[in-house]
Amino acid sequence: MQNSRIRRLTRPFSLLLSLVFFLSAVTLLPAQQPRPARRTGNPAPATESRPRLVLLIVVDQFRYDYLTRFGDLFGSRGIGRLMREGASWTAANFDHMPTFTAPGHAVFMTGAWPSQTGIIANEWYERDTGKKVKSVTDDSTNKLAGKPGEKGYSPRRLLCSSVGDELRMADGDRSKVIGISAKDRSAILPAGRRANAAYWFGTDNGNMLSSTYYFDREPEWVERFNNRHLADQWFGAHWDRLLPEAEYLKRAGKDDVPWENLDKSSNDTNYFPHVITGGADKPSRMFYKALDYTPFSNDVLVAFAEAAITNEKLGDDVDTDLLSVSFSANDYVGHRFGPYSHEAMDMTLRVDRQIGTLLDFVDAHVGLRNTVVIFSADHGASPVPEQAVLMKLPGRRYQKAELRQIVEDGLKARYGRKDRPATDYIQTFTNKEETEPGLINSNFYLNRAALKRDGIDLDECERVVGELSMRMPGAARYFTRAQLENGLISSADPIARRVLHGFYPQRSGDVIVVFEPYNILFDLPDDPTDPRSTATHGSPYSYDTHVPLIIMGRDFAKGRYDQAATPADIAPTLAGLLGVQPPSCSTGRVLSEALVKRSERRQPPVK
Ligand SMILES: [Zn+2]
Repeated sequence: MQNSRIRRLTRPFSLLLSLVFFLSAVTLLPAQQPRPARRTGNPAPATESRPRLVLLIVVDQFRYDYLTRFGDLFGSRGIGRLMREGASWTAANFDHMPTFTAPGHAVFMTGAWPSQTGIIANEWYERDTGKKVKSVTDDSTNKLAGKPGEKGYSPRRLLCSSVGDELRMADGDRSKVIGISAKDRSAILPAGRRANAAYWFGTDNGNMLSSTYYFDREPEWVERFNNRHLADQWFGAHWDRLLPEAEYLKRAGKDDVPWENLDKSSNDTNYFPHVITGGADKPSRMFYKALDYTPFSNDVLVAFAEAAITNEKLGDDVDTDLLSVSFSANDYVGHRFGPYSHEAMDMTLRVDRQIGTLLDFVDAHVGLRNTVVIFSADHGASPVPEQAVLMKLPGRRYQKAELRQIVEDGLKARYGRKDRPATDYIQTFTNKEETEPGLINSNFYLNRAALKRDGIDLDECERVVGELSMRMPGAARYFTRAQLENGLISSADPIARRVLHGFYPQRSGDVIVVFEPYNILFDLPDDPTDPRSTATHGSPYSYDTHVPLIIMGRDFAKGRYDQAATPADIAPTLAGLLGVQPPSCSTGRVLSEALVKRSERRQPPVK
């Protein structure tokens, strides 16, 4: 908070200085003398024409085709405005697997794949500690505004610098960087390691939480926001369709379908209208969890983002600030109802309006002409397998336990002897005091100590596990650690390349299994009070990798761009625009096809 005080003190002072300088220059120059032409090759200081605010808007699980399926129903202020006024890439794909939330969110501001960021999944097994960890787990921190004494989260597992980090390193931390989301990982990872703050929605109490990684206590404005208990106003709210049902029937099929799965205790239905109580009789944990599955959770984020802009004075001066807002409810709803559902369609139409509200606010307080807005998603989604079958697609649902059983049985048959049962070749890890076998994100973690004890070669065992996993119906291919580490796969093979981009040796497993398109390996929820997923994402296929990529700002020529692009291109493009060092692992390209040359750019008056 000290920074903001310094900024408030220095800004009037520097304005005064410039005024004095300007007046003395005017008085020194004879009135009739022509003004000296600006020398070419001597560009204006980078800060002069820099945007004051970078606004990253992510919608969790927003497939690219939502723009084309529903775009004509968008309003004029939100995603509709971005499509109209921004530079939009029609073929932007993630180039990694698994296409999950944390790896995707780590890409935007680092310009790097999980193989460099180290954020290989939402959670993985840590060999050193023998534990399952989340991408943002950090037991050296505490949560703020949550349950007292609860361990916190931080970006410490993110191995690369971000655009926000580079901004702050370049200007002595005068730039402010803030991340906001309903999900912890989606708030923390785009904001980066040197962020001022990240805030996420706490389902225990409806507060916006943070971590002692950033400060000892939340700023006063956050406490004031939490004391309003904004979320509680939606207790018992009815969520109905925004537009007439006929539009939904036309574009998303029937509403009441058997595969949509709802937790019976929620007192809700699998069709509209949805009544939001979570089965509770007053605002409580069950209600806040239920709120995550509604558009109202996004409304909380918009209100909080507006409060952040006002109270942190984001975009208030020439030191470019960065605000990242990630809307999570679209993902929760997508998991429960699938991408071809009335609910997913309604969430899309509503997030368009919610983004419109946010953009209007930014326009009023910062000016959109002083802002670069980036719109993207962390991954797409696959159709619900049961629905995919009706669509004549080769969809099927599998349980993780089936795959594990096939491999465990196969290992026993292949290696087991009387004196050597071969039952512990898959390493076990602890997760909340429980022990579980090392199969996560379709990665098998082998027990190296046990293999060594029994004189079994690791590389050979990897191949055996890979071959065994191919006995599983729906399994397409496998990749072993030995293959990936020794460069034995071709980057011309797009699936192999995406697996390689998702592999970080110290954190990944030893064998990675890829399923055929639309065939999905589901896992039971980590928290038994969470509903089972009806649909999901994570594959290397286009329904999961193809996402919107739109950049709106005065440095970008509006229009549709057909060139192949990736969300990893955002960070190097921004770094170039802002005149800062590209983030440490940045491997994306600069999206130069849409960049307006500085000399050609119209110079609207700064608001
Ligand atoms: Zn996600």
